[in-house]
Amino acid sequence: MEYPDRFDVIVIGGGHAGTEAALASARMGCQTLLLTHNIETLGQMSCNPAIGGIGKSHLVKEIDALGGAMGLATDLGGIQFRVLNARKGPAVRATRAQADRVRYKAAIRGLLENQANLTIFQQAAGDLVVNDDTVRGVVTETGIRFLAETVVLCTGTFLGGVIHIGLDKSRGGRAGDLPSNALAERLRALPFRVDRLKTGTPPRLDAKSVDFSQLEEQPGDTPTPVMSYLGRRDMHPHQVSCHIAHTNERTHEIIFANLDRSPMYSGVIEGVGPRYCPSIEDKVHRFADKASHQIFIEPEGLETHELYPNGISTSLPFDVQLQVVRSIKGLENAHITRPGYAIEYDFFDPRDLKHSLETKFIHNLFFAGQINGTTGYEEAGAQGLLAGLNAARRAKELGAWWPRRDEAYLGVLVDDLITLGTKEPYRMFTSRAEYRLLLREDNADLRLTEAGRELGLVDDTRWAAFSQKREAIERESARLKASWVQPGTAAAEAIAARIGKPLPREYSLLDLLKRPELNYADVAHLSGEPVDDEAVAEQVQIQAKYQGYIDRQQDEIDKLKRHESTPLPADLDYARVEGLSHEIRQKLAEARPETLAQASRISGVTPAAVSILLIHLKKRR
Ligand code: FAD
Repeated sequence: MEYPDRFDVIVIGGGHAGTEAALASARMGCQTLLLTHNIETLGQMSCNPAIGGIGKSHLVKEIDALGGAMGLATDLGGIQFRVLNARKGPAVRATRAQADRVRYKAAIRGLLENQANLTIFQQAAGDLVVNDDTVRGVVTETGIRFLAETVVLCTGTFLGGVIHIGLDKSRGGRAGDLPSNALAERLRALPFRVDRLKTGTPPRLDAKSVDFSQLEEQPGDTPTPVMSYLGRRDMHPHQVSCHIAHTNERTHEIIFANLDRSPMYSGVIEGVGPRYCPSIEDKVHRFADKASHQIFIEPEGLETHELYPNGISTSLPFDVQLQVVRSIKGLENAHITRPGYAIEYDFFDPRDLKHSLETKFIHNLFFAGQINGTTGYEEAGAQGLLAGLNAARRAKELGAWWPRRDEAYLGVLVDDLITLGTKEPYRMFTSRAEYRLLLREDNADLRLTEAGRELGLVDDTRWAAFSQKREAIERESARLKASWVQPGTAAAEAIAARIGKPLPREYSLLDLLKRPELNYADVAHLSGEPVDDEAVAEQVQIQAKYQGYIDRQQDEIDKLKRHESTPLPADLDYARVEGLSHEIRQKLAEARPETLAQASRISGVTPAAVSILLIHLKKRR
């Protein structure tokens, strides 16, 4: 049958990409259908119940700044919060939360069900309606036909999913869920490049069978950080600790002795796994000289005894998994509640997408999430939001929007994917961004909320909170700039005691704040009233301390923009340009771009490479 209502946007898949896509499109006023296998699994975390971490929290905060759900759901579901790299610079600081799986999922479902313009329907999509190279709708596996202007595909690990436990394999989208085979076949018939990837998950443990006295306790941070810019500590449920255990030589012996029963090492799995989230068999094989690997024993929730042993993802047979677990101190009597497994699935080469995440071959069809070769909830959520907003803009006949690499990690993520493609599951790191100092997790709202408001993604509550914060930062910075400490005063004495020498002349509070020994709390009260909003104080401090570096990075970006029309000589010998990778040299030599702008658009030529070319040209002159 044909469904009587027509939609602007249909999103297929209620995982992390799909939920952000559907919410974004609906927030922008488009009639949106979220079609998913199972309403009970909306926002389900397939693997680790944790959100954020290095590079990833930057994406969560960007999603949040653009009005998305992930940050708020983390604040409602988070049971242990920490700031990683807290002692390092602000560019690499990252908030990470252990989440209660059930609470997180419930928070996402609540946001979806209360979103205006959003209709949820439980069915598997089996086919796409395509004519004239344009998608027109979706047909479910039971034959219901939904029509729409645009379609966003967010099917995760489900396309042609095959689950491996040892040498046994079965079809599945993830443990307990059916794969999407009809849709996978349909997509394989379209002109996209398709390949296989794999990922894995560890066995889960029963906390009642674990000896916590043998493990190292790892409490969350106090005061507890929040994830969303609208987050408050009082939203958090009860907080608990994680624990740390270690593998040992015996663990590694067991793994080595059974590698022939691993589907990865016996050649049963064809897909490439995540380099940065390897299985335990991968780790002991690749780092054979390491006597021990750390395992974080993480609670799965407040109302369950299940634990997630982060660091021993595996596809070894169950009997080996049990031996591995029980070889670890504190886990000698551990009971496994669910075996670990690996999953292989289809992904589509993201080089066949535009920056908007629309496919190049089928108009109005967008791909987001693990289907594009990424791994991780945050990477999926960020792409979902971008694809959802662009699907909505297309439905409204508006042009595409995406952030540049110097504006957001989301810009870096999409640009990397569509220009470089990926051969292994792609995850975000701060090292992937050239302009790390500009793209901090603490300023994602300042970078993106205004754009989000213009796009129609940011509601009045968020906009009011943001505007208030931005004004407070400006006011406080201006106050510190206009407040002076004179030598010989009590304030100057207090500063001298902190920096170990007297102040030789008068200084503004803002100049004092630039000193590495002093922080906001040291200087702000010396004249007038400090602000009591931690986020405002943090921003004023970071902006003061890093302004020099930030300005330099901004100059670099402006310089690159100015030089885009600089010609590249026809006889330029790229082999002699120092600092370029072999791959980039080869691509440039083949393409022979005429200008720097053309060079920068060649797939794989990064902004860093363009910078190197610019320096080389200057030297040649
Ligand atoms: P998913 O979260 O997979 O969601 C897909 C959604 O689409 C589901 O709701 C599904 O029901 C629905 N769907 C699929 N097909 C259809 C259809 N035809 N019709 C209707 N609905 C459909 N990430 C890490 O960062 N680190 C890890 O170590 C890690 N390990 C993992 C291990 C396993 C075993 C799995 C399964 C995933 C792992 N991940 C890991 C990846 C992480 O779960 C994903 O990156 C993330 O969930 C991707 O989000 P997504 O929205 O793209 O897809």
